[in-house]
Amino acid sequence: MPTANPTPAIAINHVQTRLLWAYVLVNLLTFALRYHQYSDTSSLIWVPLARASAACIYLNFGLLLLPMLRMTLSWRRFDALRQILPLSKAMAAHMLVGNAIVLFSAIHVGAYAAIYLAANLRLEQIAFAVPVSGLALTVLIVLLAAGAWLRTRLPFEVFFYSHFLAVPVFVLCIIHTRLFLAVMLVPAIAYLMDRLFRLLWSTQAAKIEHIAVQGRDISLVIHRPAQFTYQAGDFAFLCVPGLSRMQWHPFSLINSPDAGGSLAFRIRRCGNWTEKLGGLPIGTRVLVDGPFASPCRDLHECRSAIIVAAGIGITPFASFLAEIESNYKGTGELLAFERLHLYWFERDQASQAGFYPLIERLERSLGGALTANLIVAAQAQEPLKRLVSVRTVQWDEEFGRLREQWLGATVFFCGPKPLSNIVRASSERAGFAFVTESF
Ligand SMILES: Cc1cc2nc3c(=O)[nH]c(=O)nc-3n(C[C@H](O)[C@H](O)[C@H](O)COP(=O)(O)OP(=O)(O)OC[C@H]3O[C@@H](n4cnc5c(N)ncnc54)[C@H](O)[C@@H]3O)c2cc1C
Repeated sequence: MPTANPTPAIAINHVQTRLLWAYVLVNLLTFALRYHQYSDTSSLIWVPLARASAACIYLNFGLLLLPMLRMTLSWRRFDALRQILPLSKAMAAHMLVGNAIVLFSAIHVGAYAAIYLAANLRLEQIAFAVPVSGLALTVLIVLLAAGAWLRTRLPFEVFFYSHFLAVPVFVLCIIHTRLFLAVMLVPAIAYLMDRLFRLLWSTQAAKIEHIAVQGRDISLVIHRPAQFTYQAGDFAFLCVPGLSRMQWHPFSLINSPDAGGSLAFRIRRCGNWTEKLGGLPIGTRVLVDGPFASPCRDLHECRSAIIVAAGIGITPFASFLAEIESNYKGTGELLAFERLHLYWFERDQASQAGFYPLIERLERSLGGALTANLIVAAQAQEPLKRLVSVRTVQWDEEFGRLREQWLGATVFFCGPKPLSNIVRASSERAGFAFVTESF
């Protein structure tokens, strides 16, 4: 297997693995120490089990909100930190910590149930002994966990609204035991400040300048709010009060960061909100909250990058491609990268039209520094366009061919999870770093 100097992405992957191990270790240590402390005072295993799981619940509640400081973590001054820490994995970290809370809560509740059963208490005695806050917390945490699990399985609103249960959960935690207040005070204040700053400074109103339905997609252009600066790969939350005051949907910014007074988005119609969006007239008021960094910001640090985008997964890379073009036109120079290869899977001709002209222009003008494959589903008609091919990709073969010349390259992926797993496995076998984003 070829080796190469670690790229920032490879280095970050290593840090990520170490952080993950550190997190697991801290949880195990907390659990073991607390278990040991109580194992001397009780002959039953349930008491130390209940106390040890409680200690891990405190620990994880203390960590839960930190990755959700979206605005703080997207600050430009943290860009240097982004080279060292996997800040773009914040959402994954939040989900991991949330899962840990569910796991330790199940152990905690199970252990207390066993304690009550072992004491031969009657049902009414148990009902009297169990704190109401504990009961309510159990029900709310189950509902929160179910809502999160259903995030991609039911309409998004189920997840969105059920996540507001986090507010009574935090209040009940503090009623359940005061220690929660000590553990959560700093992260909760930091989170509230982050949200407040977002509301006051990063949320701005804009008007729709252009909107058109093109096949499965909507091309949306809105007026750029004052002082809205972003980097290629960033995204913003959009809210259309005329559709729903509560719903904020994230979309990648697709035009070049240095492009004039507009913000452009390409939006796939895949649910209620996006369907209704397509029917809005020009001039409709939109609220914009952002910009926020996505894993694709790391593209700026790469000399050799292989982009794999499935369908609308092209959007996080689009502003980077637009930036390359605008920079090349202005200065005749490429950005930091030396070569870039793009695979884009898109079967719908109208959707292809959104980015194909840009990709083709870049491929023609950059003299081999950018190469592209637009791949349509194998059963589609033979396309006429120059870069388009009809084939299925065997990733091991594909990357196997590239790996000699592309030592130290990073594969950036955006698309569905199952394909992400396949491309990740082949990237690792070829010795490439892998950065993924799934909508
Ligand atoms: C960082 C990021 C960037 C994105 N960029 C784009 C983009 O450029 N173009 C594009 O078409 N889509 C993008 N998406 C996905 C887009 O946000 C959803 O497709 C959209 O919100 C669907 O809303 P809906 O109510 O019409 O569909 P629903 O039927 O409600 O949802 C369809 C799916 O979209 C996802 N989704 C819905 N609402 C949200 C939300 N508020 N936050 C996160 N995910 C949600 C869920 O996984 C859901 O299963 C992006 C998502 C993320 C997280």
